[in-house]
Amino acid sequence: MYIISRCLLGFNCKYDGGNNKNDDIVEFFRTHDCVTVCPETAAGLESPRVPSEIKEVRVTEDGKDVFTVVSKTGDDMSEVFDYGARLSLASVLVEAGNRIDRKGIIEGAVLKANSPSCGTGVVYDGTFTGTLTKGLGVFADKLIDACLEERNNPDISDENRLFADDFKVCDENSFARVFGNK
Ligand code: SF4
Repeated sequence: MYIISRCLLGFNCKYDGGNNKNDDIVEFFRTHDCVTVCPETAAGLESPRVPSEIKEVRVTEDGKDVFTVVSKTGDDMSEVFDYGARLSLASVLVEAGNRIDRKGIIEGAVLKANSPSCGTGVVYDGTFTGTLTKGLGVFADKLIDACLEERNNPDISDENRLFADDFKVCDENSFARVFGNK
């Protein structure tokens, strides 16, 4: 099972009311077992909406990232983005856990580049100037954390592990290289 950012499939859930449709990813979705997520829609945000960016990331003592997310009009969106990311992650894990053959079922994720929710390596830097900086979106961060937690938890039996050993996350730009041969 693969997780895909919904806007990559042509859903108009992007902040500006449009989408980021990518024909290769649509074809992959058509031919593979996939679930879609849009953490910002899950949080109840409408499309179109005021864009938001990650302003700051604080790391807690137990190694968790806490994101400060602000909208272009200055509203603190941190809790909204956190809620949408947690809800989306929970829905993915429930879906995977409900499958009969669930061992290692989550094989990968194709997430929209640069997004404050879905970004997988670089995100906009909180200045709303189009500047990118290294980092993960709020949902991508929680998804990768969930995989690492499962891997590091000796109490989860092999049969109950939802993430595949070779679980990988990529964006639409690296999709062909990472999953193109699947
Ligand atoms: S990048 Fe993620 S949160 Fe933003 S519209 Fe696409 S799926 Fe939704």
